[in-house]
Amino acid sequence: MNTASEVFGSMVFNDSVMRSRLPKNVFEQVQCSIKEGRRLDSTAAYVVANAMKDWAIEKGATHFSHWFQPMTGFTAEKHDSFISPVEGGRVIMEFSGKELIHGEPDASSLPSGGLRATFEARGYTAWDPTSYAFIKDKVLCIPTAFCSYGGEALDKKTPLLRSMEALNRQGMRIMALFGNCNVSFVKPTVGAEQEYFLIDKKVYEQRKDLMYTGRTLFGCCPPKGQELDDHYFGAIKPRVAAFMEELDNELWKLGVMAKTEHNETAPSQHELAPIYTTTNIAADHNQLTMELMQKIARKHHMVCLLHEKPFALLNGSGKHNNWSLITNTGVNLFEPGETPHENAQFLLFLCAVIQAVDDYQDILRLSVASAGNDLRLGADEAPPAIISMYIGDELYGILNAIEHDEPYGGREKELIKVGVHVLPKFPKDSTDRNRTSPFAFTGNKFEFRMLGSSASISGVNVVLNTAVAESLRQYADRLENAENFEDEIHLLIKDVIKKHKRIIFNGNGYDKAWVKEARHRGLCNFPSTPDCAPCYLDKKNIELFARHRIYSENEIRARYIIKLENYCKVLRIEALTMLQMLKKDILPSASQYSGKISENAVMKRQLSSDINIDYELQLSQKLSLLMSTAMEQAEDLQAAVSDGDKIEQELEKARFYKEKVISSMSQLRSTVDKMEENVSSEFWPYPGYGDILFSVN
Ligand code: ADP
Ligand code: MG
Repeated sequence: MNTASEVFGSMVFNDSVMRSRLPKNVFEQVQCSIKEGRRLDSTAAYVVANAMKDWAIEKGATHFSHWFQPMTGFTAEKHDSFISPVEGGRVIMEFSGKELIHGEPDASSLPSGGLRATFEARGYTAWDPTSYAFIKDKVLCIPTAFCSYGGEALDKKTPLLRSMEALNRQGMRIMALFGNCNVSFVKPTVGAEQEYFLIDKKVYEQRKDLMYTGRTLFGCCPPKGQELDDHYFGAIKPRVAAFMEELDNELWKLGVMAKTEHNETAPSQHELAPIYTTTNIAADHNQLTMELMQKIARKHHMVCLLHEKPFALLNGSGKHNNWSLITNTGVNLFEPGETPHENAQFLLFLCAVIQAVDDYQDILRLSVASAGNDLRLGADEAPPAIISMYIGDELYGILNAIEHDEPYGGREKELIKVGVHVLPKFPKDSTDRNRTSPFAFTGNKFEFRMLGSSASISGVNVVLNTAVAESLRQYADRLENAENFEDEIHLLIKDVIKKHKRIIFNGNGYDKAWVKEARHRGLCNFPSTPDCAPCYLDKKNIELFARHRIYSENEIRARYIIKLENYCKVLRIEALTMLQMLKKDILPSASQYSGKISENAVMKRQLSSDINIDYELQLSQKLSLLMSTAMEQAEDLQAAVSDGDKIEQELEKARFYKEKVISSMSQLRSTVDKMEENVSSEFWPYPGYGDILFSVN
């Protein structure tokens, strides 16, 4: 057995491999292009490609692939063999610099939201040298961005890289203002904690809803859910432990720093947390994590569910996006620091985030919107659909004192002048207590908790990076022209607090009163995807993305269309799955059972005419009623789907789905769940919630 340190990164073409395999000057060129995002010239690319190929073949790879993240949320790869024919029927192993840097996958089946007409179906992929190449299943995977021939982003990585550049541009202006002359770049880091469910493969295969949609569409609540908390505190079961061990090992090989794994609140729910890294790499790693979770679960005869709400009435799964900013000199810009100077810089960056979250709450909410996550947000255990920020009472007290020119502190209260005084210490721990906040400051980073478990982390980070870049741009404009830097920064911070403090909420986000209070403060509340999708097209948001060169208006429109299309597609599949389950399995089984009950009644009567058959009569009556109700509701649902199919316009269609299809689905579900409660398990066609949730021992 190899030790973890031998395993770690063994399948990654990382710095140390490059250092040992590349000529010094080429290695330095690659390092430069990684640090400064500059393009590698073709001679160097040729050398890198060759070294990469030799390394990959030694590790057993036979193919290579440009690995990219189209707008579906999954990853795509097209495998090409290293083999090229040469004269005399022989083959050689080949892979050129051109193939490393540039690929042309046929992507006509991937969504483009109208950006790429199918007649010009090919897009092109371009190497992202900042994210290392790796070997997975004997394939050398080269992380790439994916664009149309017009240069429009067809993927999730391109805008993410652009947003990191924007943040760096504006962050560096602030760095210069504070005289940090040894800082040459600022970059966002992310640690994405991933929640998931593990269930036994046998029960999964008996549930069409899980197989087709990733969640249960029917199912009544088991007598034991998550109320005892025993799963959370309990020991990890041996099968799960074996899965986690293999998952860690495989992730380590790919250089993913999986760190802690533990049980979550609901039975059979778990979490994996990686150690944070640069955002685009964290996004790649999170995709790999999701992929490996599913693959390795299968090997262990289990299925990993990444859906946001696989089971009604139980906790759903999210993904906590821990986000921070770091300089190349290793300074975390959200560490309050010790000196007045560091404190002022910290407060300015903190204000930039407060303003960003307030100004762009609509698109932050939108960046996590999907049919699956709609089921989770606003439910009791998940952050509400309203965006607010938690910064803890101490920090809030400091901001409040600055805003009102009031003294702050313990016995020796003093006025705080930003840039002159040292901030009073606030305990880090107290910043991590509010689990109900969607966006919490946790000591030296922010934790955005609204993201759904199945989503790519790219979208939220594009919004976050860009919105913060915009705050910083405004601050830099103002401070660069200031006569007195110290005075101006104090005034700026006061202004920001005054204007944006409405987004700060340290109370209980699950409290119903908060919804009212948030409305009073003028905060957005978008319960569903169709409610917030139009925000994409708001002038202020189009301007934001254009100003920082993240998305052109066309690129935004494409994403808007894809968001709505996906929403409708998911719901349509769910509705049709429900109908099929009902007609093929549920009604026939319920009818058989009710027939059996009636037969029993007849038999009992034959034994004696005064025997009591109330149970049989009442039950069969009840079931008959439920069956006919279900049939009617199924017709309504079918009609709603057909009506939805006739609507062309995306937003109108999505709204129709939200109004009509979802409500028909929940009516049908509630009838069928009552049926399940009344039908013997011997006759019920599917494993129940209890069977699924406690299926892994
Ligand atoms: P917890 O107490 O919730 O376990 P941790 O501090 O251990 O909190 O971190 C939770 C997640 O946040 C981990 O994935 C971790 O890598 C990540 N994280 C920690 N510091 C940063 C940072 N500076 N930037 C981004 N993510 C971070
Ligand atoms: Mg967390």
